[in-house]
Amino acid sequence: MDERQRGAIPLTQLSEDEQMFRAAVRRFAAEQISPLARSMDEAQAMDAGVVRQLFELGLMSIAVPEAYGGAGGSFFEAILAVEEISAVDPAVGVLVDVQNTLCANALVRWATEEQKQRWLPRLAADTVGAYALSEAVSGSDAFALQTRAVRQGDDYILNGQKLWITNAKEAGLFVVFVTVDPSAGYKGITAFVVEKGAAGFSLGRKEDKLGIRASSTCELVFRDCVVPAGQMLGEVGKGYKIAIETLNEGRIGIGAQMLGLASGAWDHAARWAKERKQFGKALAEFQAMQFQLAEMATEIEAARLMVYNAARLKDAGADFLKEAAMCKFFASQVAEKVASLAVEVFGGAGFVKDHPVEKLYRDAKIGKIYEGTSFMQLATIAKSVL
Ligand SMILES: Cc1cc2nc3c(=O)[nH]c(=O)nc-3n(C[C@H](O)[C@H](O)[C@H](O)COP(=O)(O)OP(=O)(O)OC[C@H]3O[C@@H](n4cnc5c(N)ncnc54)[C@H](O)[C@@H]3O)c2cc1C
Repeated sequence: MDERQRGAIPLTQLSEDEQMFRAAVRRFAAEQISPLARSMDEAQAMDAGVVRQLFELGLMSIAVPEAYGGAGGSFFEAILAVEEISAVDPAVGVLVDVQNTLCANALVRWATEEQKQRWLPRLAADTVGAYALSEAVSGSDAFALQTRAVRQGDDYILNGQKLWITNAKEAGLFVVFVTVDPSAGYKGITAFVVEKGAAGFSLGRKEDKLGIRASSTCELVFRDCVVPAGQMLGEVGKGYKIAIETLNEGRIGIGAQMLGLASGAWDHAARWAKERKQFGKALAEFQAMQFQLAEMATEIEAARLMVYNAARLKDAGADFLKEAAMCKFFASQVAEKVASLAVEVFGGAGFVKDHPVEKLYRDAKIGKIYEGTSFMQLATIAKSVL
């Protein structure tokens, strides 16, 4: 048991490796992502060069063990990366988040050795992953999904449509949840890995979104799509377990995305408050302004403690279900509040696209929706505490 596991080290105190890692991601985000955030948002497209650099820096393979060519980092490092990147652009933050906390994570935990050898090196090298659970009829009620897989010899034939799939446009590998038996309810849910280019598999509509616009969100269409039985992840009927367990972890990633967004927005607001003068003084000299910024700094600190604690619990092999739901629920509230205040601190300048706070305000809304809405988090929390 190391010092951290004994509880001797404060949660927000980073090891030397973690400090170096965070500094490298922060520098990359400031130098390479920040200058492109606005144009990517306007173009509704992820810059290919940014994606390539994310791979080169190992940020797309934090969750892939070194034995498969990945960076082999801790879950906490994935969380730090998502936080730092999201402070600059939450759309890039969710790309890294889905790759590590959902896709690579699902393969590391559930793939056979043969499947790991086949797919993990690709996820580490240059292949973006996507995670496809939701459908038009099944969002919060995820296991009411209808995409069907029927066994035919050594293959399964997939038919149906997935909705809202993050990274779909860039992805080469898709973890897809289907049912092999709709009458069996959640016990029919089964996971497959489907590769881009598989016959009968195509992308449908790309969504035109309020926020995180550079992150692609698309429909997936399966029409008699042939998937070899060897591409099943885990066992028949055990897909619900894969979905529940990966999403429990992924949720901490969304907490980190919202935490990063909130601290990014706060930094912009504080800088503006010190620079902008009205009534002959900097805005930051007015007590009303100081108190609002102080309150938001306190809420960000609370969100950070919750996100870091959930991530450190996960790395320590302890239970983290309640903490993950709480940190996602709370951090998404804080992100919305802080981004809203940041727009107000900028005044009219916050309402136009010249400053990043307008985009961060739009980006914040998604935190309460994906990977389980706030109500779904509260349902999980209620089950844990009552
Ligand atoms: C930008 C974006 C990216 C996404 N990325 C992915 C992805 O990569 N992969 C994927 O599988 N999915 C993804 N999703 C889907 C996302 O997870 C769902 O949108 C989310 O789970 C909510 O489902 P829904 O949209 O069907 O809303 P609904 O489930 O219809 O919910 C609508 C409202 O009703 C409330 N509600 C529902 N049930 C209850 C209840 N029992 N009690 C009280 N209130 C309730 C909800 O909280 C919500 O406020 C993404 C969505 C978006 C918008």
